[in-house]
Amino acid sequence: MSTILFTNVHVFDGSGTARFAGEVRVQDNRIAEVARDGRTLARDGGPLRVIDGRGGTLMPGLIDGHAHLALGSTVEMINKPGDRSDAELALLVAHCARVTLDYGFTSVYSGGSASMHAEVVARKAFDAGWLPGPRMRTSSFERVPGGSMGLQVRFPGRAARTPDPAAAAAFVHEAADAGVDAVKFLLNGVSAFDAGSNRGEQFHADEIRAAGEAARSRGVWLTAHCYTAEAIRLALECGFRVLYHCTYADEAALDALEAAKDRVFVGPAPGIVEADLLRGPRFGIMAGDADRSEQADAAERLRHVGRELHRRGVRCLPGGDYGFPWNPVGSNARDIELFVEWFGYTPAEALHAATALGGQQMDMPDLGRVEAGCLADLLLVDGDPTADVSVLRDKARLKAIMKDGRLHKDDA
Ligand SMILES: [Zn+2]
Repeated sequence: MSTILFTNVHVFDGSGTARFAGEVRVQDNRIAEVARDGRTLARDGGPLRVIDGRGGTLMPGLIDGHAHLALGSTVEMINKPGDRSDAELALLVAHCARVTLDYGFTSVYSGGSASMHAEVVARKAFDAGWLPGPRMRTSSFERVPGGSMGLQVRFPGRAARTPDPAAAAAFVHEAADAGVDAVKFLLNGVSAFDAGSNRGEQFHADEIRAAGEAARSRGVWLTAHCYTAEAIRLALECGFRVLYHCTYADEAALDALEAAKDRVFVGPAPGIVEADLLRGPRFGIMAGDADRSEQADAAERLRHVGRELHRRGVRCLPGGDYGFPWNPVGSNARDIELFVEWFGYTPAEALHAATALGGQQMDMPDLGRVEAGCLADLLLVDGDPTADVSVLRDKARLKAIMKDGRLHKDDA
């Protein structure tokens, strides 16, 4: 039994309400007690470690709702995308996972892998505690029609081929057999690799319906890479749980997302849009004039969509495709800033999205909150992120990082 007591802290509990002065006691891997309004907690009972927070903020560990650990690039190392074996991908996942944790993210929801197995085996090691990494919801590799493993760079669109619902269902079964939590479909293309393809549907409706049926029968979640109103409509109809991007949602699509807000999560992923614009061309991504104007237009539309979803109370999660060389893992907290700058969230609302809402997306309601009985994933920050979320990007100001009751970082 281990007991750790955080004293002299301002607690942001994840709910979105103001910080309060208090103390928090952690027993093993759970938050045992929270004292508010300057009260103190008993110091007796079992071995006790006291961490003086020096007036900083104690908050839930951050949760990234759209992570790609297998992409492999971090603030410490660039990994040029390309074909990799499952073994190498598992090592890249382990590297990205450790960096993710170093920057205060104690949980990630995978937005897709390059392998069916790498995330599943890496998670086993993180959960067992012999490799450092966040809690994970794992994903299949990212399916395009007829696509094999590896990074897809061409997206000819669904009109170019005949529907194959059996193949879509078989993919879901294969992913479920591999033990993933979520199965990912690229309902639209990827303009960063194939200009204009964000607006092109890649799957026929019958294929996605077959995937939906298979997912329900196997108890796995479905995740959509979707930009267009048609792709959003199809994902909602077929029971997808997490929808990424949604950049070209029209009024009807926004209404449909709002109507489904109790069962879906949206990851608008502003980080990758900004990165494509600012740093993509240096890496040969979206460097042409047409690409540039497509992306500038997409940024404008996403700002509108993000504001609308916020206004309508749709659960949106920070997480912006970190892992590409021009958008490396370790800068994940930039998405929280962009929720404030682009979508009009208050800092506390953006932090609520990155903590308590993330716990809902992870389907772990006792995650992402600082309350008695909740899981002990905590971040001690030198500063007040509810006044300025950008302090979270400064690694030196993350004084303690705790996952599952264990201190990954202990600089307090
Ligand atoms: Zn993604």
